[in-house]
This record gives sequence, structure tokens and C-alpha cells, in this order.
Amino acid sequence: MGQGVLRRYAEYLPLTPRTPMITLGEGETPLVKSRHLVKEVGCDELYLKLEGCNPTGSFKDRGMVVAVAKALEAGSTSIICASTGNTSASAAAYAAYCGLVAIVLVPKGEVAKGKLAQAMACGARVLTVNGNFDEALKIVRDLTQRHPIYLVNSVNPYRVEGQKTAAFEVVDDLGDAPDYLCIPVGNAGNITAYWKGFVEYHRAGKAKSLPRMMGFQAAGAAPIVLGAPVAKPQTVASAIRIGNPASWEGALRARDESTGLIAAVSDEEILEAYRLLARTEGVFCEPASAASVAGLLKLARTGWTFQGKRVVCVITGTGLKDPDLATQQARGEFQEVAADLRAVEDVLLSLNIGVRAG
Ligand SMILES: *Cc1c(COP(=O)(O)O)cnc(C)c1O
Repeated sequence: MGQGVLRRYAEYLPLTPRTPMITLGEGETPLVKSRHLVKEVGCDELYLKLEGCNPTGSFKDRGMVVAVAKALEAGSTSIICASTGNTSASAAAYAAYCGLVAIVLVPKGEVAKGKLAQAMACGARVLTVNGNFDEALKIVRDLTQRHPIYLVNSVNPYRVEGQKTAAFEVVDDLGDAPDYLCIPVGNAGNITAYWKGFVEYHRAGKAKSLPRMMGFQAAGAAPIVLGAPVAKPQTVASAIRIGNPASWEGALRARDESTGLIAAVSDEEILEAYRLLARTEGVFCEPASAASVAGLLKLARTGWTFQGKRVVCVITGTGLKDPDLATQQARGEFQEVAADLRAVEDVLLSLNIGVRAG
């Protein structure tokens, strides 16, 4: 049984004797060794940190468990967030588990169906806002200034505290930090959290080195790359469709202190990585998650050399939440057949897998 993030990393988290040690089994996600993309990148070892294996299907659970524990400790009875989807699914689940009311604001028409379904199933009050994520976040921040509702967006420092435990796990699994850590960047809480985690573990003597932090935004939602907010962010990767990241400063610090970079990848590059991850590695993630691999492939193809290096890509969430996109991307790849042995044999004949006519 998993211990959960609070117990496993208690000494690195801002807990008190009064913090309830809740868990839905978050953390301890797999670090899977790539067998195919590693060749294309040309690095020594490539690992995929599968954050879609968290209880609600994204890394958001790591931060949410800490934020909700602190909400309980503070005596709050309701929590609220703005969300591109995964934060609301996570908030709803932990609120249900802890008997809290969850209120989530999502941009209308911009959230994958599976994420909304999760939030609704767990009993959250879902408000679809006629605006984008940045506008929803502004409303939520103002609301929590005026009313006793506990804010669980990543502007809440406890979210970042919880999310940094993913960096600890990478180091615990590899015995040191990797040379490069590739990660999608939306609101920039996660890149901020990973860097904080690597630095703290290094300081504690748990890691000999620090990674270079390689953040990737979608080209249509790349404020940090452009150096200015984007009023109408657009990308297929809805989880990183954010025009004015709350943790902008944290992302710049991660980039600069680690001598890393933050670059943009196009939707085509994101979708290519999304397909490649599923088809060559068996990892079915969401498009935003594929931005980490898209960025790494782009660097490798444009002359960066990763020879002799160990690279980790953070795969932030599962692909199961958006089955429409998945089937659309795999168009033409299923075929109807009669309920008949010969009919199925006939189809398999063409596959060159040793099925013969007769
Ligand atoms: C939230 C999220 C991101 C972006 O993380 P930030 O902390 O906002 O930068 C990326 N991928 C998935 C699947 C997410 O849910």
C-alpha cells in the first residue's frame, strides 16, 4: 500500500502535529525507461515519469493532498479553484474524501470531458465561466479575499510544496538528479515545484547534482517564451492553455538557476509526440503532457546533443480523459468485421504476422 505524499516526505513538508495525514494513494508513480524514443533523442537513458498514475490521473494530486490537509487543519469547510480541468478533478476527489465542499470554475467549452465528469462525479459544484482560465483564476483569487473559502490553486504555496515530491521520487529512483528534466509549462506551478524539490534534495545531500530544467509551452500559449502575457491563448493542449502564468517568476528562476530553457512547441509537434508516446512506448498521455517529449525531440532534431546524458520527461497526465481526441488522432484504425472466424482470418492475412490463407 502506498504511504502517500504526506507520510513519505513528511520531513520535507510544512506539516504540524495537527495536520491530518490524509491520502488517496498519490505519489510513488512509475519512472519508465524508454526503449524507442531514447534512440531518436540520442541520449544515454530516457525516463518517463508517469504522473497519470496518480489517483485522479494527473500530478495535481500531489499538491492537492497537501493543500486540502492544510485546509482541514485551518478548519475550512469549503475549497475553490479555477481549472483547465485536472485541478478541478483533483480538488473534487480530495474534497469528497474529506467531507469538504468543492467549487470549481472552468473555462466554458475548453475542458476535456473526462475531467469535468470526474469533478461532477465527486460532487463538486462546477461553474463554467464564459471566459478563459486566466479570467477564472482572477475571480477565484478575488472571491477568496472576500469570503472564507480556501483557495487550492497553485498560487497556494502548499500546492507547490506537495508537487516538489515528484522531484524527490525521481532522485530516489535514479540515485541522483538526471542531467535534464523536461516538463510542460502552463501556469508554471509544476516547473517551480520540481526545481524547488531538486534544490532541497541537493541541499539535504540526497542528490549530487542538479538537472537543467527544460520547460515547454504550446506555441499559441507561450507567454514566458514571448516575454508578455497572451490575451487569447490557443492550443490543442488544454491543460497548458494559459496566457498569464501565476508562477511566471518561479519558472524564470528554475530556468535561469539551472541554466535550462523555456521554449515553444507547435500543436503539430505536440500531437506527433502524443502519438509517438502511445505507439512506440505504450504511454497514453494527454496532449499537454506530450509537450515535454515534443520539446525534447525538437531540440534533438535541431542540433542539441544529449549523448551520454540521462533525461527525464514528466508525463503530467493520462490520455483517458479525452477519448474524443484520441480516436480522432487514430482515425481509420478500426475496422468492422463479421462475427466469423474466416472473416477475421481474412483481415489478418494482410498484416504479415504469419496468418496464412486456407
Ligand atoms: C496542470 C497541468 C499542466 C501544467 O502544469 P502547470 O503547473 O500549470 O505549469 C500540464 N499537464 C497537465 C496534464 C496538467 O494537468
